[in-house]
Amino acid sequence: MNQQRVAELIRELLIEIGEDPDREGLCDTPQRVARALDDLTAGYRKSVEEEINEAIFESHANNMIIARDIEVYSLCEHHMLPFFGRCHIGYIAKKKVLGVSKLARIMEVYARRLQIQERMTEQIAREVMQAVDAEGVGVVMECRHLCMMMRGVEKQNSVMTTSSVLGSFHGPATRAEFMNLCLRGS
Ligand code: ZN
Repeated sequence: MNQQRVAELIRELLIEIGEDPDREGLCDTPQRVARALDDLTAGYRKSVEEEINEAIFESHANNMIIARDIEVYSLCEHHMLPFFGRCHIGYIAKKKVLGVSKLARIMEVYARRLQIQERMTEQIAREVMQAVDAEGVGVVMECRHLCMMMRGVEKQNSVMTTSSVLGSFHGPATRAEFMNLCLRGS
């Protein structure tokens, strides 16, 4: 990302919304926003492969592995405003399992882009499925959207829940076990 160019655009944006980009408090704002945007959209410049970095291990256990309550922050593609909440990822391994922190890393590749929650949920499920050739995968996301909370007519406390299941998680018993485990206590 060309941070200098983005900073120039933010300076112009400040003028258009009625601000004076030269007043003291805003002097460094264009550069700061550019750095923040570079970070918040870093997913465009990362790949799942590189993030997993070969942290895949052999395992013959056949039970469900769940990472619960992973904090997620993303930007909605309609308003470029944050949405945030929690992500739960579960899978049943065939022969391979991922290193503990890697589920969150996979999620971040997709969270740090302009997103819609439904699509991100599916993308994460697909990547986990592919990374370990799992028997099945389930992903649930529970997020609050600032574009609804700060403007518009939606209730401020509404949480949007999306889910995506693949493979054996389509089976009603497996799906129910997953949903119970990840929504327990939330
Ligand atoms: Zn939005």
